[in-house]
Amino acid sequence: MGVLERAKRASGLSTPETLRYMCLECETQFDVQHHACPVCEAYDIRRTGRV
Ligand SMILES: [Zn+2]
Repeated sequence: MGVLERAKRASGLSTPETLRYMCLECETQFDVQHHACPVCEAYDIRRTGRV
């Protein structure tokens, strides 16, 4: 924990901890909040609750 975790976040690795948003249509997860899902273009983007 600590330095390693921060390094992983900074590098943008797609670990579950960093994926804070999810498309309810196709269940694709994102690290940033998109206005619409880039995969299926749905607007049902939801926070996963992990901050
Ligand atoms: Zn989607």
